[in-house]
Amino acid sequence: MARRLYVLCAVLVASVIVLPAQQLPPGYVDPGPVLAAASKAINEQSLRCVTFSGTGYSGAVGQTFENAVNIDWRRAEMANYTRTINWETGTSKETFDRKPGESPASWKYGLGFVGGMPTQKNVRQTHIVNGMNAWYTDGDTAPVAVPPEMAEIYQLDIWLTPHGFLKAARKPGANPVALWRWEQLEKGRDGNVVSPEKVHVVGITVLGKYRVDATINSQNIITRIKTTVNENTLGDFNIEQESTNFMPAGESRWPIAWHSHQGWDDNWKFYSESTGHNAYGGKFPDIKANVCEDPVPVPDAVRQTPAPNPAQVNVEKMAEGVYLLGGGPANSYMVEFRDFVAVFEAPLGEARSLAVIDTIAKLAPGKAIRWLIMSHPHFDHIGGIRTYNHIGATLVTHMINLPFINRDVLTYKARTVKPDILSLWPPTEVAEGYNYEAIQENFVITDNSRILRVYYVQPLNHVSGMLMAYLPAERIAFEADLFDTHEPPRAAQIPAMRSLMNQVQRMKLDVGTVAPIHGKPVPWSAFVDAMGTAAKTN
Ligand SMILES: [Zn+2]
Ligand SMILES: [Zn+2]
Repeated sequence: MARRLYVLCAVLVASVIVLPAQQLPPGYVDPGPVLAAASKAINEQSLRCVTFSGTGYSGAVGQTFENAVNIDWRRAEMANYTRTINWETGTSKETFDRKPGESPASWKYGLGFVGGMPTQKNVRQTHIVNGMNAWYTDGDTAPVAVPPEMAEIYQLDIWLTPHGFLKAARKPGANPVALWRWEQLEKGRDGNVVSPEKVHVVGITVLGKYRVDATINSQNIITRIKTTVNENTLGDFNIEQESTNFMPAGESRWPIAWHSHQGWDDNWKFYSESTGHNAYGGKFPDIKANVCEDPVPVPDAVRQTPAPNPAQVNVEKMAEGVYLLGGGPANSYMVEFRDFVAVFEAPLGEARSLAVIDTIAKLAPGKAIRWLIMSHPHFDHIGGIRTYNHIGATLVTHMINLPFINRDVLTYKARTVKPDILSLWPPTEVAEGYNYEAIQENFVITDNSRILRVYYVQPLNHVSGMLMAYLPAERIAFEADLFDTHEPPRAAQIPAMRSLMNQVQRMKLDVGTVAPIHGKPVPWSAFVDAMGTAAKTN
């Protein structure tokens, strides 16, 4: 008996000592001590909520000024910035002052842009998340629900902070794993030569879905938190939060300098054209620890707002074989020819595009969608071009957009967060490269009875590589962002309106109807009136 006990004890001791090492494959380490050291280094558990204030900036992801090749996303300043994050209640409230007139109020920073939303009217902007509900207010106006997919990102964002990450790592289902590596820091790139530093990387799962990892330096400080979300145009989309300058926050320490990449920090464009990165940052030196007010309850109006239905396609006939396919924040238009169909614009994403394509198949049975004209490369206008490519349409785009479209958008790269039909079943055209028509000045789509002309619009300061289309017989001009009719013309739109006027005059077009992507078609006279009013108010 004693001998058997001895054997049993020996087995138990052996298993205690040996098993953990055996369970970890080479390259991995036990995440427990790494996380414990990181928590202790900033006394993380003493901070239940935090409020921080200062001045920052936000970058409009997907709204590049110059053809998606800028180093930064176009920046807007955020003055009088204050944010309260409460990890116990899963809530965040963020307020800041931003110059009104240009950006939709729905646009937080980075992800959060919803195409065709009303432009921000007031200075003060508030964005709140409570559980899986998120909303914003533009000044003192009524709260507006953030669509569910975006509300999830608002909630995720709470955990992309050093304290949030460590708290999320203790939740059930986090399943932390840890590894180590030598990080080269910014060696060379910015002229700094820094010795490589041995760091740990701990990866966890957040909200049961997102893989989030933190880089923890040799002093056990979390220096970077990274995750991957879905972005309809680019697919798997990198978000990296970098934070430094930890200062006392009650018994804890909290970083006051923030810097967030959205997209890869690919300055040299080795791997992609869209090197947009800096999308949020600033200095927030005023810290309040554990002043945890009750979370703002979800307003009834927000709770009761139905999620947007991308399958709702409102068909309006504009002429024989010419239809507005509306119902969302951005339209598509279809023009039927004898044997095929041409479409102007594939906004939003795959679900919307599939619904529009189904509608087209009913309106013009048996006719292939031969051409898809994309107006310009802002992300709210091209989230569906992959879907059209999959069903066999050739993309008509300005030649200047080609590197971005080919390398970043119409690729056969896997999409892991939200696989679309192009990434699940890539058609051979994608690899063979005959999926686009890159034009310089103009292009004509015709069956020798109907004619649709496509023009390059310039000069223009909205974006480079902008196309419009024109049906001379029906006198309809299709355009995007040059003249929106879903809200009154505003200061920021006036230069674009002048560009449309110039283009129409230069090409001697006799336009009867302006058909915008944002808003309803209007008679040309409405545009001329708006130009006159704009000139007076400007
Ligand atoms: Zn645009
Ligand atoms: Zn737009």
